[in-house]
This record gives sequence, structure tokens and C-alpha cells, in this order.
Amino acid sequence: MANQDFPLIFERSKAGRTGYSLPELEVPDIDLEEELEEAYIRKEAPDLPEISELDLMRHYTALSNRNYGVDSGFYPLGSCTMKYNPKINEDVARMDGFSHIHPDQPESSVQGAMEMMHDLQTALCEITGMDEVSLQSAAGAQGEWTALMMIRAFHEANEDFHRTKVIVPDSAHGTNPASATVAGFESVTVQSNEKGLVDLEDLKRVVGPDTAALMLTNPNTLGLFETEIEEMAKIVHDAGGKLYYDGANLNAIMGYARPGDMGFDAVHLNLHKTFTGPHGGGGPGSGPVGVTEELKPFLPKPLLEKQGEAYRFNYNLPNSIGRVKPYYGNFGIYLRAYTYIRTMGAEGLKKASEYAVLNANYLMRQLEEEYDLPFDQHCKHEFVLSGRRQKKLGVRTLDIAKRLLDYGYHPPTIYFPLNVEEALMVEPTETEAKETLDGFIEVMKKIAAEARDEPELVQEAPHDTIVKRMDETTAARKPILRYEK
Ligand SMILES: *Cc1c(COP(=O)(O)O)cnc(C)c1O
Repeated sequence: MANQDFPLIFERSKAGRTGYSLPELEVPDIDLEEELEEAYIRKEAPDLPEISELDLMRHYTALSNRNYGVDSGFYPLGSCTMKYNPKINEDVARMDGFSHIHPDQPESSVQGAMEMMHDLQTALCEITGMDEVSLQSAAGAQGEWTALMMIRAFHEANEDFHRTKVIVPDSAHGTNPASATVAGFESVTVQSNEKGLVDLEDLKRVVGPDTAALMLTNPNTLGLFETEIEEMAKIVHDAGGKLYYDGANLNAIMGYARPGDMGFDAVHLNLHKTFTGPHGGGGPGSGPVGVTEELKPFLPKPLLEKQGEAYRFNYNLPNSIGRVKPYYGNFGIYLRAYTYIRTMGAEGLKKASEYAVLNANYLMRQLEEEYDLPFDQHCKHEFVLSGRRQKKLGVRTLDIAKRLLDYGYHPPTIYFPLNVEEALMVEPTETEAKETLDGFIEVMKKIAAEARDEPELVQEAPHDTIVKRMDETTAARKPILRYEK
């Protein structure tokens, strides 16, 4: 499926052309038939493109220039926190002392790396108000599962075997009910009220002696702060359940409020979101888990500890849920998060939250004229619009997202959260200049006008991109198109 002006690497191939030239072998070539069994010897050469090194470089450089990332433009992908990744993080992650070590080295030879990890754990404890942190899990979703397994182990250690249910708000991220299911629980939905917050009456109705935990993000996925969190914590704790904090939205409150102080017993953080790990394209991520003293015995092992002046991995944890990730997790992302925290300092992190919230409120108020705002109140770091007004004109949120591509913007998250019709979830992050936000506002208003005046233009978008509108069904069913000669 080549694009006319951009041939595939296979189409650039010319028989006999190579990307390298090496001097003749000075030693005798091996006789394959003598060295290998017949079955392992390839009968035909692999079908690889034959191309010069220069053309190969140009091909991939040109492809990379067609990619879209935080470094190339505004990326308001709600819930994902696509914030700028400071380049000093990369310098630190590439330092020889960090990049040339191996996880199998003796502990005595990697004390510096362990110190960095320990300092990061300490900083994350301080930021979240938790008593202990394990860095091991590789993503938010894995952190959710890890913490739920710990909560399960906690209830079982108390011979409390009837706690089979995990309560999840109807606006929750899809990973929440999924993690609950994978951890062996049944997920139960609690409804939101007309303000977009958890309905306390409904919470009282679903909570009970079978409640293992409530999973919640605060601010929630609508970008709204759950102001009744202390009351919610009391309801769940009184019933014997635990509170789990999905930390994906920490960027809104870092330095201002801590899940530990709100009554949460366990949290995960997404170092690749809040703490500037690059994560477009799927990773690698890092989803550390923090817990209170009560849940500490169940943390994954080994646990990194400081003993006297030395750092060591403690494997002697009889109640641990076990290892959740090979070695010690995604070390490179720890370095980036650590660098970010150290360069920002406590005041800097607080400022980041402040600007993220300011930017989101500015955008929201500028866009509410043209798009419906289902929950009209101050937001935190993100907000949700509804495209229901445009839908009446025959233009759907998907079309608006596609049209944004024509104007050079990465679209916001769409059709999430599920409790908003035709949702558009916008998260500008803290580092965007007012001019950038104004540019986006102007384009969003232009698209709203187009939806009124020339709906086909939006319905058939994108027009100016390299790849035109995809057939979504085929893309989902046949994600890989094979090149046929
Ligand atoms: C991103 C996100 C997650 C999952 O985190 P991953 O690191 O992508 O696994 C969970 N909850 C919310 C609210 C999120 O935005």
C-alpha cells in the first residue's frame, strides 16, 4: 500500500545493490554443511530490500520526519499527559556510569545506581504521602494490578476471604476494571452524579462486606477534583475496604495535595506521564507503586533498602506478592524521572501543576462557546468537551479529530470517558505557551464553523495528510498490510 510519492523500502530495492562493502575474508569460509544440520540451512536468501546505506538513511530520516511527537507540535491527548521531555534527562540517562552497567553486577559495584533509585523512591513517597514505594512495575496498568494483588494478599492475611469486589467509577480508565478482573476480583461500577463526581449515595449502596477496594483517580477522568474524597475514604474504610489511587492525573495536584493525606492506602504513578518519561509509541514506561505501612509487607520483591551506608535488595520478604518485572524495572525511565524531580525541585513541581491547571482552564473557557461543556466548573489539568452539538449537524467527534490533522495538530483523546457523549478530552500540559494555545483555539473554532457551513469538509477529513481517512474497521481487523511483490 505504497503512497505514490513515498515508496516503501522494498520498492526502492535494486537487485545487487548493497549497503556495505567489506574487504575479502582473510580466513577460510566455513563449510555450512559440515557445521550445521541440513534442516537448519536456509535454502533461499531472505527477501530483504537491497539498497545503499545512504538511501537507507534518507528513507528512514524522511519517515521519521513524518512522525508526530511532542517535539514536533502540540499534543493535547487527554489522560495521557503528553508533556515535554526535557533533553537534560536524556543526557543523564546516557551517562556511562548509568548506561554501561548491568543488572547482574554485584550490588557493591552499582551502589550509585541504587542510591539514585532509593532517592527516587524517597521523593515519590514525599510527593504522594505514602510510606514505601516499589519502582518495579513497568506501567500504570501493571501498577494497578500489582497494588490490587497486594490488597488481596492483605485481606487474605487477615483471613478475610469474602472481599471479592472492586468498586470503579463509571468514568474510570479502562485499565481499572481490567486490572481488577486480572487480579481475580469482580469490578462493580459506582455512578457519577450530575456534577461529574462520584455519587456518594450510590457509593454507599455498592459498598459492603464484600468490598476489597475502591479504585479512584483524583482529579477524575473528567479533570474534576473529587472534593468529597475524605467522606468517600471513610465510607470505604468503615466497610473494611482499601482505597487505591490511580496516579495518572497527579500532574494536576503535585505539590498541592497528596493521595496519602486524602486517605488512600495504595497508589501508582506513571513516571512516563507526570515525570517526563518519553512515551509516545508505547513505552518503555514505569508505574511505581506506593503504599502505607500496613500494606508494606506485601510489596513486590526484592525491595531496595538502605542499611547503614549501603544499599541492598532485600529478598527476605515472606509476605511479598513476588516479583512483577524482571530485574529492577525500567531503569532508564527512573533516571529521567529523577532528573526531572531534581531539576524542578519542590517549588518547580508545584508550579508545573499550577500551569497545567491554568492552561487547561484557559482552553476550556475559550472553547465552551463552540463546543458543549457537560460539567461547567473549574477543571484541573484537563477537561472534557462534548461534540453533541456538532453531531446534530452530522459531524462526529471522530471527524473533528481527523480535521485537526489537516491543521497540523494531534487530536485530543476522543470517545473517552465513556460517560460523556461524543467526548473530546483535552490536556494541554504546563509547558505550552499562550500563543500555542491560541493557535489551537482558533483552529477548533474554525472547525466548528466548518461543521455548520460545509460539513462534508469535516466528514471527509483529513485532506492534507499523507495518509487519508482510514477504514477503521479494516484497520482494526487487519492491522498489518503485507507488501505484495
Ligand atoms: C494512562 C492511564 C492509565 C494506565 O497507565 P499506563 O501507563 O498506560 O498503563 C490508568 N489510568 C489513567 C487515568 C490513565 O490516564
